[in-house]
Amino acid sequence: MIEVNGLVKRFGDIAVLDGIDLEIRQGEIIVVIGPSGTGKSTLLRCLNFLERPDAGRLKVGDLKVEVSRARKAEILALRRRTAFVFQNYALFTNKTALQNIAEGLIVVNRWPKAKAHARAREILERIGMADKADAYPASLSGGQQQRVGIGRAMAAQAEVILFDEPTSSLDPEWVEEVLALMKQLARERQTMLVVTHEMGFARDVADRVIFMAEGRIVEQGPPSELFAHPRDPRTRSFLRKVLAANAP
Ligand code: ADP
Ligand code: MG
Repeated sequence: MIEVNGLVKRFGDIAVLDGIDLEIRQGEIIVVIGPSGTGKSTLLRCLNFLERPDAGRLKVGDLKVEVSRARKAEILALRRRTAFVFQNYALFTNKTALQNIAEGLIVVNRWPKAKAHARAREILERIGMADKADAYPASLSGGQQQRVGIGRAMAAQAEVILFDEPTSSLDPEWVEEVLALMKQLARERQTMLVVTHEMGFARDVADRVIFMAEGRIVEQGPPSELFAHPRDPRTRSFLRKVLAANAP
């Protein structure tokens, strides 16, 4: 359903993404891991054209884009098919939870306000925050703010939701409620590409774990396989560090 071919992104002389090939099936849950600075965020941002890739091809559903030649209409179409959940929530601080969820539907999808607000209320129910419709982000906990961030992505009904370290900014007490919502989406077979260091989530939920290093996909496989039998020394070394950090 999603195909990435030969995706390249350079910053100056450095190829931060050095030819990424990736296929994602509908309903697949993929976790991306790897050392800091290896291009995980850049990959997600390029899929959404938050960064413009330098080369490669993207296919999302029936939309095919040759990235070097992508026009504005194609970029907007691609953005509608890929929703993004940010590490720092990226909510509008001057809008309520309901308005944050409805905003994209009004601005991007051009829905009438009443229809967008009705959808936002349904989403608030699903994320367990119906009672917080009129609350502003500043009055919400980090966990609640990120659930609104996820709710906004759900509202978009995109083909895939891209999560960039969705729990990394949270105080430890709020991590579980956010992971629980992501697990709920996974059970509903929402296609997801998740960058995270939460190895428990990867183990429980991911169909496939991808290990990236230095702008490339080094190896990938089902979590049980990748965690038990990492082949590349970089994967072994990374897993050793992360699993040690996650240990009680
Ligand atoms: P990760 O998410 O795996 O930690 P990133 O994708 O954020 O890695 O970054 C990969 C590399 O690209 C890093 O070396 C980073 O410094 C560099 N980089 C990311 N964004 C930019 C940018 N806008 N301008 C220049 N360099 C960038
Ligand atoms: Mg990152």
